[in-house]
Amino acid sequence: MVKICCIGAGYVGGPTMAVIALKCPSIEVAVVDISVSRITAWNSDQLPIYEPGLDEVVKQCRGKNLFFSTEVEKHVSEADIIFVSVNTPTKTRGLGAGKAADLTYWESAARMIADVSKSNKIVVEKSTVPVKTAEAIEKILTHNSKGIKYQILSNPEFLAEGTAIQDLFNPDRVLIGGRETPDGLKAIQALKDVYAQWVPEDRIITTNLWSAELSKLAANAFLAQRISSVNAMSALCEATGADVSQVSHAVGKDTRIGPKFLNASVGFGGSCFQKDILNLVYICECNGLTEVANYWRQVIKINDYQKSRFVNRVVSSMFNTVSGKKVAILGFAFKKDTGDTRETPAIDVCKGLLGDKACLSIYDPQVTEDQIQRDLSLNKFDWDHPVHLQPMSPSTVKQQVGVVWDAYEATKGAHGLCILTEWDEFKTLDYQKIFDNMQKPAFVFDGRNIVNAEKLREIGFIVYSIGKPLDP
Ligand code: NAD
Repeated sequence: MVKICCIGAGYVGGPTMAVIALKCPSIEVAVVDISVSRITAWNSDQLPIYEPGLDEVVKQCRGKNLFFSTEVEKHVSEADIIFVSVNTPTKTRGLGAGKAADLTYWESAARMIADVSKSNKIVVEKSTVPVKTAEAIEKILTHNSKGIKYQILSNPEFLAEGTAIQDLFNPDRVLIGGRETPDGLKAIQALKDVYAQWVPEDRIITTNLWSAELSKLAANAFLAQRISSVNAMSALCEATGADVSQVSHAVGKDTRIGPKFLNASVGFGGSCFQKDILNLVYICECNGLTEVANYWRQVIKINDYQKSRFVNRVVSSMFNTVSGKKVAILGFAFKKDTGDTRETPAIDVCKGLLGDKACLSIYDPQVTEDQIQRDLSLNKFDWDHPVHLQPMSPSTVKQQVGVVWDAYEATKGAHGLCILTEWDEFKTLDYQKIFDNMQKPAFVFDGRNIVNAEKLREIGFIVYSIGKPLDP
């Protein structure tokens, strides 16, 4: 029986391994992590992450051929294929701070693999890593090898949170990069054999290591760039009376462009887009490609601009001050169908409003009060950030922020309402009831363009939708 071990039981490691276990009953899959609380949650009915369909997949395999464990070394030493899916955040200090990927977790995982391995291993980069990371990993492993042979593969993950299970069942592509040596090709084939159990052969792409590593950064940069492109256009729409939805529709009809990922919004978030573009910027700079670095840096600048534009719009619409006013925040996760708040635009928007002394009443169906309080209190490393945010002390956050259990409670007595996540339930709220319970004039700021602005205006709301005429 082939044994797989995945180091890192997070948003990627957990779901990807659960799907491999489901689709490959003859493979034993162990997902290991140093976080005891995460592993305990994976072994309970309350999984550590919310992802539609994940519960069912885990329930079907857990205890059969899928195991979650903190016995990292034991499972690593027993495995034939080791996926490494640890976090690779942006470095916050030292060389490359604010841009380069922090590979501390990766390096310690690699050193541990070298320490405990007693047989040949295939080591798979599942985390998103800078191009040429495999070279560094190879050095660490081979210099500590005790005669054991390692093959490094790059197999970046393209799942999107909120649709992870669907994406894993039916991926657009599976990318495997490896060395073109006989042993490298054998390793590529071994990993192909795993995916081939449910992924059509023509969707499994093999490349050299560096192309695979760079493709993941490139894919995220392209996706984020599309959002920044449409968001940049949304500002121009507001200035000219054009409607960004109509522009997106017209532009997306061009088959060379296509209709996906063309929704204007308050900005992109999530743990990956910004981090991966910063990483790309850093790699470009290290290679002397300043103009290319500047090009990609602009994607983040536009994203920051969009968030600050939104905050400014809220404040200026509400008579240039939100001081002491109650503002309801509907949605805090960075997108719908996830409880993940990493880099969510809601953090910057809320901090911006808190900076103007608003009182926030926040509701998100999947985000806890603790998460929100922590996210808003955290003084994160700020890279050239135009939404100039004051660090929020935890006590300010406690005083000015309330987290409530539904949208009606959040909006009761509020002067304004901001929609920051596109949860489906926000589309079908009883907006008449909400209007009746709000201060007048009652404002709606739709940061996701999900409500019917015309209907809301008929009720009596003053409505701002991203990239749409203000007074149609
Ligand atoms: P995560 O923070 O949710 O999970 C990482 C896990 O690794 C944590 O639970 C941590 O405790 C564990 N870990 C760290 N060092 C360890 C060690 N030495 N031994 C055992 N466990 C260790 O991160 P994530 O969102 O799953 O992302 C993981 C990687 O995948 C990142 O490189 C990310 O960029 C990439 N990625 C993420 C997504 C996404 O949607 N979240 C999509 C594609 C790729």
